[in-house]
Amino acid sequence: AKDQGRNTVQIYTPSMEIDSSNRFVLESELREACLRKEFLVMYQPVFDSGSGEITGVEALVRWRRRDGTLVAPNDFIPLAEETGLIVEIGEFVFRTACRDWKHLSRAAGRPLRLAINLSPRQFRDEHLTAMILQALRENDVDPHYLEVEVTEGALIGDWDGAAEVLSRLREPGIHIAIDDFGIGYSGFAYLRHIAVDRLKIDRSFVGDIGHDIGNPALAGALIALARGLHISVTAEGVENENQLAFLQDQGCHEVQGFYLGRPMPVDESVSFFEKERHA
Ligand code: C2E
Ligand code: CA
Ligand code: CA
Ligand code: CA
Repeated sequence: AKDQGRNTVQIYTPSMEIDSSNRFVLESELREACLRKEFLVMYQPVFDSGSGEITGVEALVRWRRRDGTLVAPNDFIPLAEETGLIVEIGEFVFRTACRDWKHLSRAAGRPLRLAINLSPRQFRDEHLTAMILQALRENDVDPHYLEVEVTEGALIGDWDGAAEVLSRLREPGIHIAIDDFGIGYSGFAYLRHIAVDRLKIDRSFVGDIGHDIGNPALAGALIALARGLHISVTAEGVENENQLAFLQDQGCHEVQGFYLGRPMPVDESVSFFEKERHA
């Protein structure tokens, strides 16, 4: 029994050690990456589902390691959130995206909406509004073109505090979108008290469209809910023609997904937008 116990420990301990030392390595690498600004901002186009025109872009960050590999946000944002490094990374994203905005808008032939994600920790940062306004000002971007995307997770717990942050952002004209809409557990009642400009329907609902096992009823109901509240609605994760047709049919205002355009670096986005404009 004693040997067994030791075996169990021997099997278990190394993997635990790898986990915690991995986390330690990852954390110090991420700190280093913050100092050296080793991040890249990609832009995914968002389209008007009626006209097919590009209405905006969503900024999506990647960590570019020194060997050139790109790390997806889901693999470092949680750690960045936990350690607070997300505040610094977020500032880099805002500055970069505001700087790129005029190139993207020029290529598209009109001023684009610039959507930027905010994690809960960023949302609660007391310097958030000042940081954003400075990034906008430095790059001559009118606040009306900026839309910040927050999940319900950033709002719940302290609704009064959240409402205060939101009104501070809205005051200069920044727009607010609820990201991953429909998968939170907070119900919809908060929409009575919190002013939002857009609901972004989580891509899991879009994935239900046109699949034998999925049911498009939820996507349809969420679109109807948004429309009934006079809130703009965007569907994300559109991957095929069937999904696009369904969303258009339901009156979803805007669409975003690999079928229409993948996230691309700024220069690729510029050529993509120029091509779309002349198509
Ligand atoms: P999100 O805000 O829901 O962003 C949409 C994600 O869906 C992106 O993943 C995008 O590449 C992906 N996507 C877009 N179209 C499709 C599609 O048709 N099919 C599929 N399967 N996926 C699609 P990405 O870039 O890996 O970002 C993941 C998450 O990381 C984002 O989810 C967002 O929550 C977070 N994130 C990304 N950039 C930032 C940032 O700058 N700051 C913060 N705080 N979070 C960020
Ligand atoms: Ca988003
Ligand atoms: Ca989303
Ligand atoms: Ca998400």
